[in-house]
Amino acid sequence: MAELPRDTFGRPLASLRLSVTDRCNLRCRYCMPEDEYVWLPRTSILTFEEIARLTGAFAELGVHKVRLTGGEPLLRHDLSTLVTMIARNTRVDDLAMTTNGLLLGKHAAALRSAGLERVTVSLDTLRPERMLAFAKSARHADVLEGIAAARQAGFASLKLNSVVIRGFNDDELVDLIEFARGHEAEVRFIEYMDVGGATRWSQDQVVSQREMLEVLARRYGPIEPLAGDNRAPAERFRLADGTTFGIIASVTAPFCRTCDRSRITADGTWFLCLYAARGIDLREPLRRGVPDEELASLIRETWQGRTDRGAEERLGVTDRVALYRIDSLRADPHREMHTRGG
Ligand code: SAM
Repeated sequence: MAELPRDTFGRPLASLRLSVTDRCNLRCRYCMPEDEYVWLPRTSILTFEEIARLTGAFAELGVHKVRLTGGEPLLRHDLSTLVTMIARNTRVDDLAMTTNGLLLGKHAAALRSAGLERVTVSLDTLRPERMLAFAKSARHADVLEGIAAARQAGFASLKLNSVVIRGFNDDELVDLIEFARGHEAEVRFIEYMDVGGATRWSQDQVVSQREMLEVLARRYGPIEPLAGDNRAPAERFRLADGTTFGIIASVTAPFCRTCDRSRITADGTWFLCLYAARGIDLREPLRRGVPDEELASLIRETWQGRTDRGAEERLGVTDRVALYRIDSLRADPHREMHTRGG
């Protein structure tokens, strides 16, 4: 068997985020704050068969972790069928999904039976009125129902993602830890990132990992960093009572050096970095019917040329402001986080 590809920094091709739709049923202020969006044309959206073929090609080259995302992945009709198709691939040993949870109550059991192993639910606030103001949705109860359904369905692990924003939810760190503990879940606090879509981003709204740890230490006492998988985006910590949590410090302490993940949009554009200006069109060769070897060579050679370290480069920017203004997001919706998949 040929050697598995590594990029110019020696990083393997190991983890793939598959955005199955660019549509979302929330309008979070840090991701989709505008009134109108340009969507990917429907005819460009990959079929399940096309997604499964691509996943297979990536798996042959070393990808063993696959995460379904979006947009909101549960807006894609019959997602369990795609899960079944990917789960059949024995090279994929970790199949997960990130969701806002609104539709999870309805689908959790079927997804679990189809072979989905892990679920991450985005939960930024425990206060329904804050969700209404921040994500333009009155469906906080549906998210909680989704979390309960995920627990009942017996996923291997349940994580909660909370983007921490100064002046919005930075006073809920302790409440979110307590909520996660009560629901046998682990919370991951995410620093507010200046990705495409975050047109209202500013540095002063970012609550850094250091600040989060200070707040939590004031309430819980000493916090112990946990050694672990240094390719995972979250650094994990333990409180004195054994409760664990994570922090994804993509703004103040980026993890580009070990980043082994890339993203495919719902229309088959492959991005080697969340911050990459351009992606590689995989839909065209796929629909042209290229043989497996040709698809594999394209993926292999592209990965071997990867030089991206987008979050680290952003660290060097002085007077850092939002990455894109709305006009450039409208000119190319692939720049949007909800298209790329978080
Ligand atoms: N709709 C699904 C969800 O809400 O989890 C999946 C897609 S969403 C883009 C994936 C993750 O990206 C979510 O956890 C979301 O909070 C995170 N995200 C979006 N914009 C972000 C930003 N500006 N900074 C940090 N995280 C962000």
